Amino acid sequence: MSHILDGKKVAQKLKDRLKIDIENIKSKFDCVPGLAVVQVGNVAASSVYVKAKTKAAKEVGINVYDHHLEATTNQDELINLINQLNNSEDVDGILVQLPLPKTINEEVVLNSILPEKDADGFHPLNIGKLSISPNNDENLMIPCTPYGCLLLLKELDIKLVGKNAVVIGRSNIVGKPMAQLLLKESCTVTTVHSKTVDIKSICKKADILIAAIGKPEFVNKDWVKEGAIIIDVGINRVKINEDKSKLVGDVLFSDVEQKVSAISPVPGGVGPMTIACLLRNTTISCKNRLIN
Ligand code: NAP
Repeated sequence: MSHILDGKKVAQKLKDRLKIDIENIKSKFDCVPGLAVVQVGNVAASSVYVKAKTKAAKEVGINVYDHHLEATTNQDELINLINQLNNSEDVDGILVQLPLPKTINEEVVLNSILPEKDADGFHPLNIGKLSISPNNDENLMIPCTPYGCLLLLKELDIKLVGKNAVVIGRSNIVGKPMAQLLLKESCTVTTVHSKTVDIKSICKKADILIAAIGKPEFVNKDWVKEGAIIIDVGINRVKINEDKSKLVGDVLFSDVEQKVSAISPVPGGVGPMTIACLLRNTTISCKNRLIN
């Protein structure tokens, strides 16, 4: 019987800790962290994420500044808003919900956020710090999803040092920073991707397998070693019938569950951790501002 890594529970633990941190900030400095949430247009999935992030931020005591812009907003208008938020003393974290409309260059927009207010941890300076700092430091702004995966792994009563970790996927927001985080935990890390030859046999050697591919139920039991730990990052909506759909991960849960020692479910695994880590980054940004 494998251990199910309950992301909701672990995320709640982190949020409880942040709530106490924020109460302490309030009593010491008479202010609370502020998070600006910027959404452009009305992509349905983005609205769901923004709603969940806003709710979670308010629950821990973060002030949320909601900026929902028309789908016709152009890049200059969006960057003007980000500049205002960069200069606002009330805002510690800026989150720009992706994807942006096709007419806007995401990279230019994300890079216009001040690194110290980069709630998602995507800015090149934060990515650079992540790769050169020796530890997974408390003061770093770290990409939320991979950091959430690491915190899930740390819930298990195992040593990460020396483990053979395989990350499937090399995106800037998940795969690459995930590999960096595991490397700093002294895992031996292999990153595989769509051009990797014989991917299955590499995955089969993994003590820890992180799947961040974006392909529904792609990884089955033939890909995993007996007793491996699986973190499933994927969020894929698949149709059940004409009217109904459901969320599944990148791993065929029912197939691998009996073979592995621990696995994160979808939904209820990495998703809640991503949100909790966004709140962590915002709180860290506030602490860094007040203390430095
Ligand atoms: P992405 O940017 O599309 O990257 C997918 C990666 O998977 C790429 O590196 C790609 O390789 C690789 N890949 C695609 N097909 C493959 C194949 N057949 N074999 C091996 N590798 C393959 O996606 P992402 O943003 O990293 O997201 C990955 C998944 O995580 C998605 O389902 C997304 O919705 C989910 N996600 C979840 C959360 C959360 O909070 N739970 C957060 C972010 C993302 P190439 O580089 O060679 O193309």
